[in-house]
Amino acid sequence: TSSLFAPIALAPRDPILGITEAFNADPNPNRINLGVGVYVGDDGRVPLLECVKRAETLLLEGSQPLTYLPIDGLQAYDKAASSLVFGADSPAIAEGRVVAVQTLGGTGGLRLGADLLRGFTPAKRVWISDPSWENHRALFENAGFTVETYPYSRERGRELDFAGMVGCLSGLPAGDVVILHACCHNPTGLDLTPEQWAEVIEVVKARGLVPFLDIAYQGFAEGLDPDAAPVRAFAAAGVSMLVSSSFSKSLSLYGERVGALSVVTSDSAEATRVLSQLKRLVRTNYSSPPSHGAKIASAVLGSPELRALWDEELTGMRTRIRSMREALAEKLTALVDGEDFSFITRQRGMFSYSGLPQLVIARLREEHSIYALDSGRICVAALNSRNIDTVANAIAGCLKTA
Ligand code: PLP
Repeated sequence: TSSLFAPIALAPRDPILGITEAFNADPNPNRINLGVGVYVGDDGRVPLLECVKRAETLLLEGSQPLTYLPIDGLQAYDKAASSLVFGADSPAIAEGRVVAVQTLGGTGGLRLGADLLRGFTPAKRVWISDPSWENHRALFENAGFTVETYPYSRERGRELDFAGMVGCLSGLPAGDVVILHACCHNPTGLDLTPEQWAEVIEVVKARGLVPFLDIAYQGFAEGLDPDAAPVRAFAAAGVSMLVSSSFSKSLSLYGERVGALSVVTSDSAEATRVLSQLKRLVRTNYSSPPSHGAKIASAVLGSPELRALWDEELTGMRTRIRSMREALAEKLTALVDGEDFSFITRQRGMFSYSGLPQLVIARLREEHSIYALDSGRICVAALNSRNIDTVANAIAGCLKTA
């Protein structure tokens, strides 16, 4: 007479949510949360971009009915999203070889791509970087893949292990899927140079691997075009590939779930077949995507004026993060004898793998109410003009007495 759900075990807690809960429960009014995964401004708040506000005003004035979108999403959005990653002059797009589908954020793009690969290709195994975004493993495992890791960082996450990475990829069998962060690697902030990308592309091509690029922070390293360079280099190499992209961070549209899956195929007939199967996967899963965020994104991307404003606002976010990196590195180098913190300025995007030992992370939490992830990942965007000295002094203090 036991209940239907009695055998269900409790799922493991999301480690980041655990940090947030502990932070929220901390009575210290000066508590600082460096565990967040979103961009916040100098005022500590998630920004509402002016370009988004204006796009929303236009939508409101237009008073369009809230009807269903097509299964594969708003067509203007799909076009805009794929040309943002592949470039407006992409030969693959011009040749009709790129299929783009609106997805529920970048996560939805990864999952849809995983379902396509698992359901319609022989691919069974996925390789993610060690470390990687914490959802990559579970997402691909839940889609039916075996998930393995390739080396990515050394020096406790402060430097890229490029030799290790290429060495591993060079030994993989054809058909294995490789997840690559196009820019602003989460969690380390370590990216490949253009020369290193060229080498990876050569290996992927030579071994017949399936590249699946994850670009969730386009615009946060150098700018919209330079950050997409690895995606464009892969496309130029003529390999079949998948790309999951997201506007969550770049348009600060987190809760609207605006992402895209783009698939580069070898000809337009193949593209038509791939799109037909992607639509079936969507139809049988959530039928069609939500419309509001896609309308905002396509309004911004479709208007030269709003697009220019977006570029400006994105530059503002990127520049603020970079100045926080420089300030933190400078302060720590001044405060801690014999340690070089310049790696913080070489890392890119929202995060830094600080390399701080877990003991130091624990003491920051207990003694200073400063919350970072156990892995040592800190969100550089959570630093601001009011808390940076507190953070630098606390880290230096804990390191001296560790
Ligand atoms: N991929 C990486 C590397 C990420 O860091 C994130 C978000 O943190 C995502 C994908 C998912 O983005 P979204 O919120 O658009 O689903």
